[in-house]
Amino acid sequence: MAKQEDQFKKVISHAKEYGYIFPSSEIYDGLSAVYDYGQKGVELKKNIREYWWKAMVQMHENIVGLDAAIFMHPTTWKASGHVDAFNDPLIDNKDSKKRYRADVLVEDHVAKIEAKIEKEVNKAAKRFGDAFDKEQFMATNPRVLRYREEMDAILKRLGSSLEKEDLADVKALIEELGIADPETGSKNWTDVKQFNLMFGTKLGASADSAMDLYLRPETAQGIFVNFLNVQKTGRMKIPFGIAQTGKAFRNEIVARQFIFRMREFEQMEMQYFIKPGTQKEWYEYWKEARLKWHLSLGMGEDNYRYHDHEKLAHYADAAADIEFKFPFGFKELEGIHSRTDFDLAKHEEFSGKKLQYFDPEENKSYTPYVLETSIGLDRMFLAVFSKALQEEELENGSTRTVLRIPAVLAPTKVAILPLVKKDGLPEEARKIFDELKWDMQVDYDEKDAVGRRYRRQDAAGTPFCITVDHETLENDTVTLRHRDSMEQQRVAIKDLKDLISKEVDMRYWLEKCK
Ligand code: ATP
Repeated sequence: MAKQEDQFKKVISHAKEYGYIFPSSEIYDGLSAVYDYGQKGVELKKNIREYWWKAMVQMHENIVGLDAAIFMHPTTWKASGHVDAFNDPLIDNKDSKKRYRADVLVEDHVAKIEAKIEKEVNKAAKRFGDAFDKEQFMATNPRVLRYREEMDAILKRLGSSLEKEDLADVKALIEELGIADPETGSKNWTDVKQFNLMFGTKLGASADSAMDLYLRPETAQGIFVNFLNVQKTGRMKIPFGIAQTGKAFRNEIVARQFIFRMREFEQMEMQYFIKPGTQKEWYEYWKEARLKWHLSLGMGEDNYRYHDHEKLAHYADAAADIEFKFPFGFKELEGIHSRTDFDLAKHEEFSGKKLQYFDPEENKSYTPYVLETSIGLDRMFLAVFSKALQEEELENGSTRTVLRIPAVLAPTKVAILPLVKKDGLPEEARKIFDELKWDMQVDYDEKDAVGRRYRRQDAAGTPFCITVDHETLENDTVTLRHRDSMEQQRVAIKDLKDLISKEVDMRYWLEKCK
């Protein structure tokens, strides 16, 4: 546990030191769970957004984009159920005065049992060596089976109490499990209460005529209310999708996990409108397609897993998360939700406008069902960044800090380094800089010894360095250094663009999703 915490602290400080993420309004001591993206962070974020957009919109003839406003008519949130049901159960510790999400306390307790299973598996794997069959062990080992049963029982009870809004039972569960305040160990809890996560604000100048508004807590509703606008003007035929990226706001109860849980964040959502009755097959399709997108980045298959929901949200008939192994354990990165016709039907009811699709093949109108994929851009950023940050022991015994961001997402693709600051080398390096900058984000760095500059670029996540030396002046070749392998090759200046482009090209990476 301590190791995980140390790693997470390193992630946070590295993100700041290299211009990825700063606390918001830091000179005023920051604002809780709000962050700013620095010069490197903004590029990484942009690249993740583009990687998603290309995969979802550009690669699908039947998926189009949208950019709806953050402010929406307040009835939207009545219709969607957010005014009445977008709540989290909160609990306070009377001694420490700290506030927690009651469901998260229980889930963290379950995660501890799961860690015990992992320990048993690791122990057995060591004992049995090559003959170890993990699946069989998990299915037959009495201790593992007991832990599994315990976990299932807890999650089932939590799910059903939340479903029934039986908050007294959620508190009883916390007490029965002996869950203590993770920071102080106190078990002196208040009752569990519901807390609405939407931020309210006002539209209009005078106090009397001002209208109560909400900052949107998800981007999806902007898609639903525009469903017919897009369908009609784009002459879309079912099945078709609408994709959107944009800010969302939630007054999260607990926000102590850096950019994992923020109060202002960005979502990348896609609503896929389908014929009723086909939702199961599209649910399976998008679950698989979205996992493939993640895997295409090469961050390790073992770092992802599905988690099927026990407790379904008020709008869903099936839901699963793609979880990622963050420095603090497996947590939700993306959600895939089968939302039925809940949203469109509700907006029809509240607006009095028909939101139906005329199916020319069936020669009738119906309210489409919706399959949603929803991923947090900031959470994806944290997944990429935390996985990328590594400390490596080198052959000569020294260590290097390297940020192995997949080259396709790296903020800066290449750094140009003149070996020395004289003899015409900076001028030659500038020429290469001026040529490559048309195609990619390039850094120029001439300060310090070249070895130190390499280390700086490694830690900043730049996948390639180009070193211009005296030989460059003689034969128009440079050294191309690769961040991950530290391999160096001599290449002609005229080949640089092709060599680098190939490795940072979205097509090369996205083709792995097929
Ligand atoms: P959680 O259970 O972690 O609160 P959720 O199930 O409420 O998340 P959704 O409403 O399904 O999340 O939102 C879709 C995605 O948006 C999530 O998978 C996550 O990546 C992202 N997301 C949600 N809330 C936040 C937040 N407060 N900060 C950053 N990203 C978020």
